[in-house]
Amino acid sequence: MVTKRLVPWLIAAEIALCCSVETHTMSSIHTVFVFAVVAAVSVPPVHVLEFCQSTDPDCHSHDTFRSRWNKSVSNLTQNLDRFSISCKKLMESFPVDEVDGDFVRTVKNCIFSKSIPTPLKGPLRLAAVSKDVIEGILDLDLALTQSDDFLGFVSGSQLLPGSEPLTHRYGGHQFGYWAGQLGDGRAHALGQYTNRRGEVWELQLKGSGKTPYSRSGDGRAVIRSSVREFLCSEAMFALGVPTSRAATLVVSEEPVFRDQFYNGNMKTERGAVVLRLAKSWFRIGSLEILAKSGEVDLLRKLLDFVIEEHFTSINPDDPDKYLVFYSTVVSETAHLIAHWMSVGFAHGVCNTDNFSLLSITIDYGPFGFMESYNPNFVPNTSDDEGRYRIGAQADVGLFNLEKLLLALSPVLSGKQQKEAYMILKGYADIYQERIYELFKAKLGLQGEEEDDGYIIALLLKLMEDTRSDFTMTFRELSELSDQQLQNQDFTQTWALEDLSSHELFSDWLGLYLQRLSRQNESDVDRQNRMKNVNPRYVLRNWMAESAIKKTEINDFSEVELLHRTLSSPFVTQDTAEKAGYAARPPQWARRLKVSCSS
Ligand code: AMP
Ligand code: MG
Repeated sequence: MVTKRLVPWLIAAEIALCCSVETHTMSSIHTVFVFAVVAAVSVPPVHVLEFCQSTDPDCHSHDTFRSRWNKSVSNLTQNLDRFSISCKKLMESFPVDEVDGDFVRTVKNCIFSKSIPTPLKGPLRLAAVSKDVIEGILDLDLALTQSDDFLGFVSGSQLLPGSEPLTHRYGGHQFGYWAGQLGDGRAHALGQYTNRRGEVWELQLKGSGKTPYSRSGDGRAVIRSSVREFLCSEAMFALGVPTSRAATLVVSEEPVFRDQFYNGNMKTERGAVVLRLAKSWFRIGSLEILAKSGEVDLLRKLLDFVIEEHFTSINPDDPDKYLVFYSTVVSETAHLIAHWMSVGFAHGVCNTDNFSLLSITIDYGPFGFMESYNPNFVPNTSDDEGRYRIGAQADVGLFNLEKLLLALSPVLSGKQQKEAYMILKGYADIYQERIYELFKAKLGLQGEEEDDGYIIALLLKLMEDTRSDFTMTFRELSELSDQQLQNQDFTQTWALEDLSSHELFSDWLGLYLQRLSRQNESDVDRQNRMKNVNPRYVLRNWMAESAIKKTEINDFSEVELLHRTLSSPFVTQDTAEKAGYAARPPQWARRLKVSCSS
């Protein structure tokens, strides 16, 4: 529900957007908004600013940081022979494609097709490992990762006994249009693993070769995109954002041909494969393809499976179970996108096939963390129109949820469809409430005061005007004492130095400090709370690029350093400081581009 207290903030936030000095004029931004909303479901526009609060207390403490890298977990599996994964449950729950072979085809009446990974050529190297995932999720002893068997397993060249890999059939709306059958064109589900905590995780290789869904693709992934997926999955987890996880990164000598910027400049790169994990890889597009092709029984079967396995609080006998499911996905998607915004994360390709039914971040491609604050930030240079610019993600979430509603329609009564539509109408308010909470936490504001929304919106406006760094502005506000802020000595704090060049800065600071002074807590407590939600390190493109460059000569030390740094993003770390990860980005970073090519 939009409460009265949000109103001034929303108005100010809209002003902040419309005053953009970027390519969009006030009216064009408005037109884009109105258009997106009309195209969706005629609910009020979702205003798009704001921002994270990790709910995982483990992320935050310094002790956890130290122990994360040193801790040894007992009773871990020492031998791969004792590690058991299986696709049996998935195969028994759904019809499997009756046609065999990896030739590209239109697949009907099933959820999965059988497909065996194609081993990568040349010597293989285990370039990166997530200890957290290997030990904490897969219960495997880290020492085991040094074995040839393990390398064979995580690269797709050696299947575990009894393993029957599957590829998933799904469709999706890409850049606003129905794209038909997509599916796992370069990914193989190896099986599910039930860990000692009773959690069931689905293991998937990405970059593991052609499948019936490869269309014109080669089934491969290159090193640069695989490094980015590995690092970002783990970084997002540490930031407290719901996400798929990455266990390993293997690189090969297999030549893979890519036109990285779609400019006719075809280059040879090297193939890589990531072992990634999620509790489920089902997407909005998993349901859409069944609804589109009229496979209603299968649609119901898949929904029942997803509800039974992953939405355990829903009673399977409830006649409104699909409605309750929809309502959960609507609110969790709103929360996920608010989380993204709170850390300045732009996914880059928010198509319905990349939106998880469990509302976790999946399919990392041309994503980006916003540096200078700019609602028009587009991480993907292939996205000419900026459809998936950071400031549009909430609206795109609405579009995708409307497509989910359409996919559910065949199993909803007329009355339920109307109710589902009302649920969708509530999305904007859920998003706004969450973003407001997250932003208040970022500024350390406790309780509720009338001007809170205004303080947030005005700060964003100043950040936008001065192009201040999103991550470091909030971090530096967390690290300086109220006295230091009062003195306005920002020589050691580069983001605040930029921000303070704004003529309204002193006015804003005055309001903010007065607001803080009315809180009943010590300034140190305020700083600690803020440091626990405002990261010092995020995966900036230049950092990923620098690490990727070294992988060309098989130097993976910077991948390791980034992985380690980003596993504790809220804790200041010496090595990361020396590497400049919290410093002003280098000049060359401005020239960097990331495209869909991967
Ligand atoms: P993405 O944009 O990575 O989410 O991929 C969209 C669709 O294209 C999915 O069906 C992918 O499996 C497929 N795809 C992307 N790259 C390749 C590739 N190199 N080979 C085969 N399929 C691919
Ligand atoms: Mg995808």
